[in-house]
Amino acid sequence: MSEKPIRHYENRLQQLRDEAETRLALATAKPSALKISPTQITQATESLLHELQVHKVELEMQADELQRANWNVEDSRDRYLHLYEYAPIAYFTINADGMATDVNLKAATMLGIERKNLIQHRFVQFVADEDKDNWHRAFVNFKKETAGKEQAITLRLARKDGTTFHGQLDCLKLVDANQQLVFRITIADISNLKRAEAELRVAAIAFESQEGIFITDANTIIIKINRAFTRITGYSGEELIGKTPHLLSSGHHDDDFYKAMWDNINSTGLWNGEVWNKRKNGELYVQRLFITAIYDDDNVVQNYVASLIDITNEKAAVAQIEKLAFYDPLTNMPNRRLLLERIKHTLASTQRNGQNGALLFIDVDNFKTLNDTLGHDVGDVLLQQIAQRLAACVREGDTVSRIGGDEFVVMLENLSEHAETAAQQTKNAAEKMLAALNQNYLLGTHDYHCTSSIGIILFSGHNASVDELLKQVDMAMYQAKHNGRNTLCFFDEKMQSTLEERVKLEHDLQLALKLNQFQIYYQKQVNQDGETVGAEALIRWLHPERGIVSPMEFIQVAEENGMILDIGIWVLETACQQLKLWEGNARNKQLHIAVNVSSRQFYQPDFVAQVMAVIERTAIDPSKLELELTESLVLDSIDDAIQKMNELNKFGVTFSIDDFGTGYSSLAYLTQLPLALLKIDQSFVRNIGVKTTDAVIVQTIIGMAKNLGMRVIAEGVETEEQHLFLQHNGCTLYQGYLFSKPVPLLEFEQFLSLSECTAVPT
Ligand code: C2E
Ligand code: MG
Ligand code: MG
Repeated sequence: MSEKPIRHYENRLQQLRDEAETRLALATAKPSALKISPTQITQATESLLHELQVHKVELEMQADELQRANWNVEDSRDRYLHLYEYAPIAYFTINADGMATDVNLKAATMLGIERKNLIQHRFVQFVADEDKDNWHRAFVNFKKETAGKEQAITLRLARKDGTTFHGQLDCLKLVDANQQLVFRITIADISNLKRAEAELRVAAIAFESQEGIFITDANTIIIKINRAFTRITGYSGEELIGKTPHLLSSGHHDDDFYKAMWDNINSTGLWNGEVWNKRKNGELYVQRLFITAIYDDDNVVQNYVASLIDITNEKAAVAQIEKLAFYDPLTNMPNRRLLLERIKHTLASTQRNGQNGALLFIDVDNFKTLNDTLGHDVGDVLLQQIAQRLAACVREGDTVSRIGGDEFVVMLENLSEHAETAAQQTKNAAEKMLAALNQNYLLGTHDYHCTSSIGIILFSGHNASVDELLKQVDMAMYQAKHNGRNTLCFFDEKMQSTLEERVKLEHDLQLALKLNQFQIYYQKQVNQDGETVGAEALIRWLHPERGIVSPMEFIQVAEENGMILDIGIWVLETACQQLKLWEGNARNKQLHIAVNVSSRQFYQPDFVAQVMAVIERTAIDPSKLELELTESLVLDSIDDAIQKMNELNKFGVTFSIDDFGTGYSSLAYLTQLPLALLKIDQSFVRNIGVKTTDAVIVQTIIGMAKNLGMRVIAEGVETEEQHLFLQHNGCTLYQGYLFSKPVPLLEFEQFLSLSECTAVPT
């Protein structure tokens, strides 16, 4: 209770007392001064009595009033204490020395320190280390201020447990009743506020991220956008705020699209997807858009937050990659990969709708010659023109693909359900293509004419796999070529059985090496004295059902499916082991072995290393190993060939050109190669005495080899006549049935021992 009401009561009491005294004095003075009649006395007594009673009542009332006032005072004090102690802020009273003289309970709980340990302690003790200096400075300055001044400061305060928190301090400088300077400090814990501030700062930074962000109210009116959004769309905040995002729409999506989007947002609160929008400059762009609905506590949408990334460039890059992956860069037509996908797809749809589809395998006749004579650039232009002509021959929805080199595959879709009609439709299309491809081409300055061969297969859902179809149509194309080029050929049953045989052959071939079914036959090579100087190693396949299978039947297949690599290394290894054995035998140590090398084998990047490894493993004299290469192999990549041959030649390995005369027989390349030997192809040898031109060719080859300092060997020498002609024309080495067929090792070695006592054929 304040002092004022107390004084008021005291005054009032005094007033009453004075009044009562005065009246009492009056009452006692009157009877002695005056003659008072008994009646008067009685009256006076009664009056006094009355007065006293009134007074008594009055006193009782005052007592009540006082009691109530007392209660009020106590109540107020309680309220004050309660407020003081339990206020949400801490109170400190500190003296001019910075010593706490009084604190409230909240101060104790806020700092986690008992009140008794706060009082009579310096306030700075409770300030966190990092802010102690700040406090000192502020306090010193504050002390200089006049009394009644207030000052606010934010400090980090330290709790007993060492943790700190941010406090907002409001200080009031006062002079107390004892004329002492005191400072009343209220402290509010503003840690949450600080945290919220920090979060806001983070949110503000996040808002200005690389992603475009716009926020709308519940009615999709834009209320805020970030800078990235302006950068992406070209619109400023002023232009967009207050509008709906509709302003940005490109017209690319229909109503259903937006309906589905809003259905999703309304049901899940989220949506993300790709949206085409329009920039301010009218340019279309595609964005990945994330929309999130923000709800209030009652689950009512307050805002929508949309963030977006411009993925236009990314999309273009993906499209470019896809194009590279699925399209032939030269012609812009689908490549093999995409063709396979489409066939798969069409196979499935023909199965559903019963229609037929067709594959047409188109191969340009003699394309290699064009490439070799006019160059690859001209070849490329031809391929581009062919692609265009083919595309002009088909309907929309059909596929024209280039699957490699000069090979195109066209897929026709939606042909008749009746096979015969479908075949006729396909035949018409193929004839149209043949005719189109037959027209002259203008390749730069060259007027060029070429034909093509087309293989055809019809398909309908169930009858084949994609792989089989491609094999079949490839075969039909080869048949078309075989039939004289510039023709078309449907795949038929005969081809089917050939294909099946091939599949079986491939399958058996897979097992042949593992099951030790290969053997090397040796065919001797003799000099003009009939002495065996070496042998050609010729592989044989001892097939469990088919007996001896000629390499003519399987080398090509092995080359195509890659098995030639294992087979080739096996032949090389076996031949070298044989050389090693012969090396230890005086009679045979001069013999060399010629090993045939296939193209795929030769062009392996580590071919040289492989050969060297075998030579080292078997420890042979490398000069006894002769590798036979064909002209076309060498010409496929002449620089690579020269390098590999030179490398091996340095170690002593020799090289010969097999089947010489059937290829290009270009002098230019011959001189660049480290060749020891030319092998005249047997087709010329066979025609000696039959075809004069071939005999002349044989003479020419022998002359050429001599001029180039190479030796020359004739293969396929069957008759004495051939032998004599060759001998007469200066060929000194021979291989052929006249001397021996290729035979197994044992037989070959028997020959060798026999030949020592046998007369040399002359
Ligand atoms: P090539 O290298 O030209 O081998 C000569 C072929 O002519 C051999 O056929 C041989 O038996 C045959 N021949 C030899 N003298 C005569 C003759 O007087 N008259 C007739 N009509 N033929 C004769 P073969 O053994 O069937 O080999 C065929 C082809 O298979 C070889 O032709 C060669 O290109 C390839 N080949 C054989 N063995 C291998 C091998 O181990 N690796 C590789 N990559 N190819 C091989
Ligand atoms: Mg050979
Ligand atoms: Mg040959």
